[in-house]
Amino acid sequence: MAASMCDVFSFCVGVAGQARSAVEVRFVSSAKGKGLFATQLIRKGETIFVERPLVAAQFLWNALYRYRACDHCLRALEKAEENAQRLTGKPGQVLPHPELCTVCKDLHQNCPHCQVMYCSAECQLAAAEQYHRVLCPGPSQDDPLHPLNKLQEAWRSIHYPPETASIMLMARMVATVKQAKDKDRWIRLFSQFCNKTANEEEEIVHKLLGDKFKGQLEFLRKLFTEALYEEALSQWFTPDGFRSLFALVGTNGQGIGTSSLSQWVHACDALELKPQDREQLDAFIDQLYKDIEAGNHSCVPNAETSFPENNFLLHVTALEDIKPGEEICISYLDCCQRERSRHSRHKILRENYLFVCSCPKCLAEADEPNVTSEEEEEEEEEGEPEDAELGDEMTDV
Ligand SMILES: [Zn+2]
Ligand SMILES: [Zn+2]
Ligand SMILES: [Zn+2]
Repeated sequence: MAASMCDVFSFCVGVAGQARSAVEVRFVSSAKGKGLFATQLIRKGETIFVERPLVAAQFLWNALYRYRACDHCLRALEKAEENAQRLTGKPGQVLPHPELCTVCKDLHQNCPHCQVMYCSAECQLAAAEQYHRVLCPGPSQDDPLHPLNKLQEAWRSIHYPPETASIMLMARMVATVKQAKDKDRWIRLFSQFCNKTANEEEEIVHKLLGDKFKGQLEFLRKLFTEALYEEALSQWFTPDGFRSLFALVGTNGQGIGTSSLSQWVHACDALELKPQDREQLDAFIDQLYKDIEAGNHSCVPNAETSFPENNFLLHVTALEDIKPGEEICISYLDCCQRERSRHSRHKILRENYLFVCSCPKCLAEADEPNVTSEEEEEEEEEGEPEDAELGDEMTDV
């Protein structure tokens, strides 16, 4: 089933302390898997929940807006006034009400080894504990021969535009596991998301890297291995394992192992527990990850996602009143794409997310003949920026 937003979506359900009793995960059907349902009336405009998809969001944001941001949580590091000065090109630009700017430079911290910036000591610590110890380049930050820099340079040379930093997201995932105490469990958790067939994975990689994808994937795998190889994770560095990891990141714009749930799981991992309690907690987490596969796209969504706090906090907001028992659905399609014919919508969803939509709108239009008129075909050829779609989820912020 399509992963993408639904994974992020469900992460906070009863998990990371920000759980809302307004929603629950429920089984829908074997074809559709699980979905997210309202347990009480949610009014139009209400925030259903807030989620922090750590890693991927950051990379996408950095690619979209080249502003200085906390390397961990994305919060801007530049004061509003500086921002205005930079954007207007007027160094003397003054903003009234400076007290309304929440950027607090006194709190900023950098990694003492590589100087990467964080908004606070908390973020610096969280990054160090989760992945940065493995990824910190130290003084080699700008050394083109540093293995991580070589990897990024190779990625840039292949240049798949909207996902400029996917490769570093993969690096963060590997680093997270490398730093974790119980690596096997992390490998198991991630592998639950790698549920596509080899053919489906190839399709995704082809889509991301273009026609020369096989050679390029192999090239990246070599550099990735050089930069990050570890025996315990050897399966991720094999051609098959690397392709899976790549496909996983490629189809999950918001990232999976990188949300508040992953942080919570990470904290659980570090707990000193009696073997019996450990087993119980592990079983709970394994089940939880299984429960998370919710397919909650709809061409007529009743909720939308946005980033109103100007950091990585993802808000899920009701677009209309949602009654108890109703499934909460967002859309993987932007509003223009949603206006298109069922045929066109299905084409986009099938190619980018590998599933067939059976939302109410699609079901209602199922009896209509497939629109394959020449007009529609032409419109598709011209009007569809094929490669731009995968990374588009974040662009309507
Ligand atoms: Zn931060
Ligand atoms: Zn560092
Ligand atoms: Zn649909």
